[in-house]
Amino acid sequence: MIKKAVFAGSFDPFTMGHFDIISRAIRSFDEIYVGVAADTGKVCQLSLSDRTEIVKESLKDLKNVYVTSFEGFLVDFVKACGAQFVLRGLRTSNDFEYEKALAEVYKSQMPKLELIYLISSHNYCHISSTIVRELATMGGNVKGYVHDNVVEKVLKLYNGGENIKWNLKS
Ligand code: ADP
Repeated sequence: MIKKAVFAGSFDPFTMGHFDIISRAIRSFDEIYVGVAADTGKVCQLSLSDRTEIVKESLKDLKNVYVTSFEGFLVDFVKACGAQFVLRGLRTSNDFEYEKALAEVYKSQMPKLELIYLISSHNYCHISSTIVRELATMGGNVKGYVHDNVVEKVLKLYNGGENIKWNLKS
């Protein structure tokens, strides 16, 4: 059987923390489906299409990784992908408490589903979409926080490109 995993989020924006989890996990799965959630329960700063575009650009060099947006509940997206696993990242013990509750909910809807967790690499465990969003909105240097493919795009989308004072080539 082909081993398929889903990695989902609102990705406002997709960060190097997310990239790290997917690039390491692809060694253990045949295919990873990255789902950009339309219905996130929170207000996103970027549109669904911009968020999806950033994820696609960030992951374009990884084989067997497919990016798409989805509406509704994650478990339905998992079923639509024909996946058996949901991949998640763990940064801190706070993540663990939240993930434990989330796992209970997902399992109650799809008992055969397995959740697989990768511990964040030490150089990415401080990164969150919230921090990157704040940095980008203020025109800060997001290099190293988002994939090199999307540094300029992220600054332009969050900051309008008006306040960029960093030499992105260095
Ligand atoms: P959203 O994009 O919906 O806010 P999150 O980024 O909070 O979603 O979560 C999506 C998944 O990515 C979660 O499993 C979360 O723990 C993981 N994740 C987010 N940032 C990092 C990081 N820096 N390192 C490892 N995993 C991360």
